Amino acid sequence: MSTTRITDVQVIATAPEGINLLVVKVLTNQPGLFGLGCATFAYRHLAVQCVVEQYLRPLLVGRDASAIEELWQLMHQNAYWRNGPIENNAISGIDMALWDLKGKMAGMPLYQLLGGKVREGVPVYRHAEAPTLEQLCEKVAQYREQGIRHVRCQMGGYGGQGFGPAPAGTPRGAAEGIYLDGRRYVRETIELFEGLRNQLGYDLALCHDVHERLAPADAIHLARALEPFQLLFLEDAIALEDAAWMPRLREATSTPLAQGELINNPAEWRWLITERLVDFLRVHISQIGGITPARKLAQFAEGFGVRIAWHGPGDMSPLGHAANIHIDLAAPNLGVQEWSGIEPPNFVIQELRGPRGALLDVFPGLPELDQGYVYANDKPGLGIELDEREAAKYPCEAAVTTWTQTRRMDGALQLP
Ligand code: MG
Repeated sequence: MSTTRITDVQVIATAPEGINLLVVKVLTNQPGLFGLGCATFAYRHLAVQCVVEQYLRPLLVGRDASAIEELWQLMHQNAYWRNGPIENNAISGIDMALWDLKGKMAGMPLYQLLGGKVREGVPVYRHAEAPTLEQLCEKVAQYREQGIRHVRCQMGGYGGQGFGPAPAGTPRGAAEGIYLDGRRYVRETIELFEGLRNQLGYDLALCHDVHERLAPADAIHLARALEPFQLLFLEDAIALEDAAWMPRLREATSTPLAQGELINNPAEWRWLITERLVDFLRVHISQIGGITPARKLAQFAEGFGVRIAWHGPGDMSPLGHAANIHIDLAAPNLGVQEWSGIEPPNFVIQELRGPRGALLDVFPGLPELDQGYVYANDKPGLGIELDEREAAKYPCEAAVTTWTQTRRMDGALQLP
């Protein structure tokens, strides 16, 4: 069998629903054989595109496309400094494309290459957000009618208001931003879950994302106060930078903990797992470098009783969602999968520029959601196509990102 060699690496940037998505296409010397991967870093897409086109393409052209592990290590080490989000997303685009290619070469969907299915469908959670308890209960009830069994519940955009002028109670001259009163947020979140359980009962699995917006002591208070409401998990209660607080949080509460969508480096996840400080890993696969490191992480976590719950937000291409789903299908230690489907999170909806449904025109083959489970298709590789003519209709923009400009009530910036 002749070697399948890489002949070109291309980047396709597209924003069918107003979110900048980056796709990497790896072409080969075999006619019609190519792979597609997700390199989406929506807020720095030009930087990722540059790394792929200017640095990784020359490194890879002419090499054996089937040597995925070798090429991952080659890319990872090539710039000497490593494990940054721009570099990792660039590597991810190529890594996923190589796995897609490998599946096409084998004539098998990716989950087969990973050992085969341990479940037929992937249980997912959906995101519900509203300004009042009554409206939130309505949304959660709608999901329940659709067969959804897991819902992440948030009041008012991760506890803050929309981006705008400084509200009352802030200093004179305070800058625009998304303002958060941490003490009020804690109080309202406890009331929220009490209200949800009173109105909806305990059948649904509910989770909540603090989004790193609390001081560690406040996070510990919140986690303890939420115990009666039996959350599936409390996410990012402690910021990655404050991870040394995790043992104290763990010891203080029985509320299950999830962490990890900002993780870039194995040093950040390894001790959380070996010390059993988290129950669910929320890692964003492209952010750690693609399928190759993600399958290693999932298997490492399995040995410690830690479950995976990959990050699956709107600012990820359908190729990234498909990669999540294929790994989930073959992972004994899947917890639940975040599923944003074709609906971006609310904070991005404000910035939507493209028409609804355009995402599916650009990426035919998105895994299907039905009665709370997502199903991969059985096409070879990731099973997602890219209509490049449709993609070209929706150019990306490098606009200033506002949702990350989160501020405390004294006007100072805090983690978003
Ligand atoms: Mg999160």
